Amino acid sequence: IDIKELRALRGPNRHTRHTAIFMVLDINEYESRPSDKIKGFSDRLLTLIPTLQSHGCSIGKPGGFIQRLQNGTWAGHIIEHIAIELQCLAGMEVGYGKSLSTPQKGTYIIVFRYLVESAGLKAAKDAVSLFEAVAEGKEFDVNKIVSDLKVLREEDMLGPTTWSIVKEAKSRGIPFIRLNQDSHIQLGYGAGQKRIQASITSNTSAIAVETADEKTAVKVYLKKAGIPVPNGRVVTTQDEAMDAFNEIGTAVVVKPDVGNHGNGSTINITNPDQLKKAFQAAKAYHPDVIVEEYVHGGDYRLLVIDGKFIAAARREPAHIIGDGKSSINDLIKQVNSDPLRGFGHEKVLTQIEVDEMTERLLSLNGLSINSVPQEKQIVYLKATANLSQGGTATDVTDEVNPDIRLMAERAARIIGLDCVGIDALAEDISQPLGPSGIKVVEVNAAPGFRMHLEPTKGRPRNVAKPIVDMLFPEGYIQVPVLAVTGTNGKTTTCKLIAHTLKYSGKKVGLTCTTGIAIDGNSILTGDYSGPEGAGIVVREPTVDHIVLEIARGGIVRRGLGVDEVDVGVLLNIGEDHLGTDWIESQDELCMVKSTVVEVVKKTGTSVLNADDNASMSVLERARGNIILFSLDPENPKIKKHIREGGTVIILDGRNAVIRTMVLDIIVCTLEEIPITFGGIIDFNTANALAAIGALHGLGLTLEQIRNGIMTFYPSANQNPGRMNLFDFQKYKVLLDYGHNTDSARALARLLPRLSPGRKIGLSHGTGNRTNEQLIDYGKALALVYDYIMLTDFDPRNRPLGETPKLVYEGLIRGGFSKENIEIIQDPEKAVDYIFSKVKKGDLLVIQPDELEPVMGQIMERYRQTITLPT
Ligand code: ATP
Ligand code: ATP
Ligand code: MG
Ligand code: MG
Repeated sequence: IDIKELRALRGPNRHTRHTAIFMVLDINEYESRPSDKIKGFSDRLLTLIPTLQSHGCSIGKPGGFIQRLQNGTWAGHIIEHIAIELQCLAGMEVGYGKSLSTPQKGTYIIVFRYLVESAGLKAAKDAVSLFEAVAEGKEFDVNKIVSDLKVLREEDMLGPTTWSIVKEAKSRGIPFIRLNQDSHIQLGYGAGQKRIQASITSNTSAIAVETADEKTAVKVYLKKAGIPVPNGRVVTTQDEAMDAFNEIGTAVVVKPDVGNHGNGSTINITNPDQLKKAFQAAKAYHPDVIVEEYVHGGDYRLLVIDGKFIAAARREPAHIIGDGKSSINDLIKQVNSDPLRGFGHEKVLTQIEVDEMTERLLSLNGLSINSVPQEKQIVYLKATANLSQGGTATDVTDEVNPDIRLMAERAARIIGLDCVGIDALAEDISQPLGPSGIKVVEVNAAPGFRMHLEPTKGRPRNVAKPIVDMLFPEGYIQVPVLAVTGTNGKTTTCKLIAHTLKYSGKKVGLTCTTGIAIDGNSILTGDYSGPEGAGIVVREPTVDHIVLEIARGGIVRRGLGVDEVDVGVLLNIGEDHLGTDWIESQDELCMVKSTVVEVVKKTGTSVLNADDNASMSVLERARGNIILFSLDPENPKIKKHIREGGTVIILDGRNAVIRTMVLDIIVCTLEEIPITFGGIIDFNTANALAAIGALHGLGLTLEQIRNGIMTFYPSANQNPGRMNLFDFQKYKVLLDYGHNTDSARALARLLPRLSPGRKIGLSHGTGNRTNEQLIDYGKALALVYDYIMLTDFDPRNRPLGETPKLVYEGLIRGGFSKENIEIIQDPEKAVDYIFSKVKKGDLLVIQPDELEPVMGQIMERYRQTITLPT
C-alpha cells in the first residue's frame, strides 16, 4: 500500500468542520482482496485491537464494523477505523472518519479526525503498517504504537489547566488560537484578544512573577504584612546551615531558594547527618539554600484569582501504605494499577514514578525500594504533593475559615499576582488564623488547576471561569470576520468591503491574493488567500474587523484558517480547477466552496448569488441569516426568498436595492458605483451587490454602506490589476487579472461597451490547469479579441511554452484566425511588443499574472506617451 498524500486539515474543510487527517492511498493488490478474501483477517485484527468491536460504522451499533469486516470491506475503510481506534487507545477520543473512492482504480481518500496533529499523522501511517501486518499474518506491536502516541499526546495536547480555560472561553463564543507548541494561547481575535500560558495571563505582572520565584523575598513581604510564615533564613555554606539548624529548633526543612516541584527539598530534618545531606541536595539546585522551621500539619493549596479566594485543596504527596508483606516496589505497582492513574495528564491522577528524589527520600529514612514496610506504615515517595508527581488532592474549599480566605486574598495582592496558588501548612484550616496554625511556605505563579478541576476527593470546581471573567470583564467584544469565496471577484469584493469598513472608521485586517493590509497599510505582498493569511490577520492586535479572501486551494489543502465567520460570501462557482486536488466534479467543487457559508455563526449572515445555479445548489448548507443577490429582480429564486421573509440585494432598473417583503432601501444608482464603469461591468455590479449584502448583514448603516461603495474606484491604486483603465489618449489600455473561462466570457460582454474600436489582448493560460481547461480558455478568448498575443506568464510545472500552445489550440478551435495570433514566451518582451501593435482607437487589454513588473512597464509608457496641455 502506498501513501500518496498525507496531511492535516487544520480547520473546517470539505469533509468536516473539525481538524482531520487527509490521506490518499493506493491499495494496489488489495483492490482485489477485500477483508473477506484475506483468510483469518477479521480474527487477527480483532485479537490485536479488541476495542474495534465498539465501532458502529454504517450499521450504527456496536459490532457494526465487525459485520462489515466479515462481509468484506476494502483496505482504505479498514485503515480509517484502525487510525481512529489507535488514537482512542492513546487517550485521544475521536470518532469521525470516512473513506472515498476516486476515479483512479485502487486509489482511495481517507479522512479521519484528530486532536493532536503529530499523533494523527502517525496514527495514519501506523494504521497502514498494521493493516499490512494483519493481512500478511505478521506480528505487530500495538502497545508500542499506543505508548508512542501517548508521548506525542503529552507533548502536544494542551495541559489540563490551559484546556480548562480554553473550554470556558469557547463556551462563551470566544475563539482561541494556539500560538506555539507550548500552551501559549490567544483568546479572541484582533483587538479583542487576551493571552494565556497555562494560568499565566496577559494581566499577570512580570515583577510579581519574579518576586514569587524567590521564596525568601516572598516570606519577607508576607511577614512584614503580618501573614504567618515559617522561621528560617538563607545560608550558603554548610556551617551556616548547621548554625541555622541549631537556632531554629528540633525539626527543619532545607530547600533551594529558587526551585520547583520540590526538587532539592528535604523536609523534617532532625539530626546533623540528615542536615548535611539535605544541604548538599539543595545546593545542587541553587547556591542560596533555605533552612526553615518544619511546620506540622496538612499541606494546603489556596487559589486566588483576581484578588478573590476561589478554591482550596489539601494535598498529599505520592505515598504507599505498608501491609507488612509487600516491598515498596510492589506497593507502588499496586497503586499504579488504579485505573484512575494514567500517563501524564491523561487521567485524573498520574502514575508514581520512582526517581532520584524518591530514592533520596527513602534512603534518608533508611529504606530502599526493596524494603518491606510494616502494616499501616505510610511511606512518602515524593517531597511535594504535585499531582503530576503522583500526589492526590481533596477539595476543601468550603472548609476554609473566612480569616484564612482573607489572608490568602491579601497575600495575592501583596505579591501582586492576578492568579496565584498559595502553599500553606496548617493543623486545621477551618479555624481562624492563629488557632489554625497556618504558615505560608510559598506562593506560586502559574498554579495548576487539575487538583481543583478534578480533585481525587471532594467537589470539582470550575476555576477557569474566574480567569475568563477577569480577562473579559465586559464580556468578549466580537471582532467580526467576513469571508469571501467564489471563482471570480473575491479580491475585488474583499477590497470593496474593507474599504467601506475603513471609511466608516473601523480598523480592518484584510488578507487576499494581493497581500495583507492592516488598517489600509500594506504589510505583506503576495498571495495570502489561504489559512496562513487568515492566521496573520486574526492575530493582529490592532484590528477590530477582519476580511478574508478564501481561495479554493487553501480550503482543500489545509482547511479554513478560522473555525467560524460572522459573514460568509459565496460569489459564484465556475468550472475552474476541476481535476486538481481530487476535486473531480462540479458538485465536489461546490462542496468545497460551501465550507465558507457552512461555518457562518447562527447569529451571522450568508450571502449567495441567486444568478448562479452552482452557488444556489448549496443554499441548504448555508447557515445564519441568508441574503441573496441578483442582477435580475425577476429572478424566481429572489422572489421566493422575499416571499419567505428573506432579504435580497438586487439591481432594480439602475438602482442597487436592499429589498425585503415590506421594504425597499435604495442604496445608490449604478452610476454611483465607480467599479461598474457606470453599469457597464456587470460582474463588478454583482460584486458590489454581494458586498452590500455582506455589509448590511454585518449591521452597517445605509450611509456607511453608501459612503464606501461610492468611493471605491477601479484604480491601479485601490484595486490594482482589476479593471484598471488607462487613457493613453490615442488608445486605451485595460489592465486586468481575469484568467479563466468565466472571466473571459465576462470580458467578451464588456469590451464592446468600453470601446467601439479594435480589441487586442495580451493573455496567458495558467499552467496548473488541465489541458482541456486551457483549451476551453482559448475558445472563450476567441470571442473577446480581434488580435491576440500569447505569452507564458505563469507556466507552473509545465515546460515553458506549453501553456500558450494549448491556449492557441483553443483559439483556433474557437474559430480565431491564425494570422491574428502571436506567441512570445518571454512576458517582458511580450508587453513591449504588444505596444508596438497598438493603433489609434484600439483597446489594449493586458492580462498579467504578477502585477508589479507589468504595471511598471505600463506606467513608464504612459508617462512617455501622454502629452500634457501647455
Ligand atoms: P512546588 O514547585 O511544588 O511548589 P517547591 O519546590 O516550590 O514545590 P515548596 O512549595 O517550598 O517547594 O515546598 C514543597 C512542599 O514541601 C510543601 O508543599 C510542603 O509540603 C513541604 N514544605 C515546604 N516547606 C515546609 C515547612 N517549612 N514545613 C513543613 N513542610 C514544608
Ligand atoms: P483570484 O482567484 O485570482 O484570486 P479573484 O476571485 O480574487 O481571483 P478578482 O481578483 O477580484 O477575482 O478579479 C479578477 C478578475 O476576474 C477581474 O479583474 C475580472 O476580470 C474577473 N471578475 C471579477 N469579478 C467577477 C465576477 N463576479 N464574475 C466573473 N468574472 C469576474
Ligand atoms: Mg510549592
Ligand atoms: Mg483574488
